[in-house]
Amino acid sequence: MTRTDDDSWDLASSVGATATLVAAARAAASRETDPLIDDPFAEPLVRAVGVDFFIRMAVGDIGADDRAEMGVSRMTANMAARTKYFDEFFTQAAAAGVRQAVILASGLDSRAYRLGWPQGMVVYEIDQPEVIAFKSGTLAGLGATPTCHRRTVAMDLRNDWASALRQAGFDPVAPTAWSAEGLLGYLPPEAQDRLLDTITGLSAPGSRLAVDCAPPGDPAQEQQSRERMKAFSDHWREQGFHLDFSELVYIGERNEAGAYLGGHGWQVLATPVNELLAAHRLPPFDDDEPMSKLRYLSATLGAGQ
Ligand code: SAM
Repeated sequence: MTRTDDDSWDLASSVGATATLVAAARAAASRETDPLIDDPFAEPLVRAVGVDFFIRMAVGDIGADDRAEMGVSRMTANMAARTKYFDEFFTQAAAAGVRQAVILASGLDSRAYRLGWPQGMVVYEIDQPEVIAFKSGTLAGLGATPTCHRRTVAMDLRNDWASALRQAGFDPVAPTAWSAEGLLGYLPPEAQDRLLDTITGLSAPGSRLAVDCAPPGDPAQEQQSRERMKAFSDHWREQGFHLDFSELVYIGERNEAGAYLGGHGWQVLATPVNELLAAHRLPPFDDDEPMSKLRYLSATLGAGQ
């Protein structure tokens, strides 16, 4: 399933399936003893998507040996740390007085329903139309209600989502807390730059942005990354789930998001993934694993932008 410039998906196919995958990891992480995160909506959302492999992953019904072989244990630990990082980002932004948030590529993220937002908080979610419709409909069917003013924007992030966001009520004069979690690798390099430019253009001083990203890979690592993703895809195919993740991401040359943001007025604090995992006493990635290069960025826009 090769990517095209205007491809689209639901939550069981192509890039959409990655949203279900990470939600399954959040569900599994929420079931652990003394869990780092608690996402009560992840499991019902994954069940509603209905892909057997993801449901088994969400409920912990994959044997311990298989979990290790298929990368599920690592993914669960990593997703717990990542979820915590973005949860804390939004909680701190709200505590600092920010009352507008935009969750880009919201997928099955349930922060608009599970975080304790302050009164008056408006949270925008942007993703592809089928993804937005599925989550809104499923959570409404479960009787879940947002803990903020939730507004959805059903748009492709490679297109003019800024106009759609404004039409939904977004206020560019007010500071915003933005997140782009698990997104950049699915955008072509020029679309990543455009996305970061658009965020910057819509951000009042004092706005914040959290993003996870990998530094541009050197060609030697590119092959290794593809092979590793293919190995996972092969394991998953054996379990009846067919998706080649190496075909979904744009690997290779691109601007490093932290440096790019730094050049556009943002003060950027980068946390390497292994530092974050260590802070939560979770096992690190080996240095030779491409995932070990992942970084979490938390940025604030200075005055005068
Ligand atoms: N941020 C969510 C989370 O962490 O649970 C979802 C992450 S999932 C790995 C990737 C998400 O990016 C999917 O929901 C997918 O639909 C969205 N996405 C990727 N490319 C997109 C695009 N061009 N336009 C809109 N959404 C996109």
